[in-house]
Amino acid sequence: MRLILLGPPGAGKGTQAKMLKEKFQIPQVSTGDILRQAVKDNTELGIQAKSFMDVGQLVPDDVVIGLIKERIKQADCETGFILDGFPRTIVQAEKLSETLTEMGLTIDNVVDLEVDAEEVINRLTGRSTCPDCGGMFHEESRPPKVPGVCDGCGGTLAQRQDDNKDTILKRLEVYQESTAPLKQFYKKQGNLKTVIARGSVEEIFSRVLEMVK
Ligand code: AMP
Repeated sequence: MRLILLGPPGAGKGTQAKMLKEKFQIPQVSTGDILRQAVKDNTELGIQAKSFMDVGQLVPDDVVIGLIKERIKQADCETGFILDGFPRTIVQAEKLSETLTEMGLTIDNVVDLEVDAEEVINRLTGRSTCPDCGGMFHEESRPPKVPGVCDGCGGTLAQRQDDNKDTILKRLEVYQESTAPLKQFYKKQGNLKTVIARGSVEEIFSRVLEMVK
């Protein structure tokens, strides 16, 4: 199964992608995670991406398109993959379609996680993540058993640098301008499924499963 998760920052794409990965045993391909790792490793890519990520702007299309092309050609993606955070612009979506066509593949489902701006701000300002395993927590809705410690791997939880109010607002603005038009793009292709991303993580997951089964 090849799946795209769409939705604004804070919609729960990462959380749902991890659950889908477990369920279907296919990799989660998150451009955000790849870029954050590159920043952490201080690679040339990371140095280039950091200045955009810190202010909530998109990293240039050619950079992320290159990353994705390389990633989906790897052996573990042969049985499918979940794209989380890509595509984020029409150009990225067009290049993805081109690449998949060249590979003789198609996307099976595009799931759009719908959530309003107020909820996004609440979710992101209270969110902490584990830099080691990617586990995600929220101070109210999903607190870790031990404060500041990842339930999954025992890593030290941290708040993402771009999860502050000013940057969140910028990310939402960029989403509306550059990413929201993708809904129309995929609607025209006939594979857009909309999921109301409100309620518990498990409730949202069962709605997602209904859409992709
Ligand atoms: P995310 O973890 O998906 O919220 O992404 C965090 C940041 O990484 C975004 O605010 C962008 O700066 C950058 N990023 C992630 N995915 C993309 C993408 N597909 N295109 C451009 N920039 C991206």
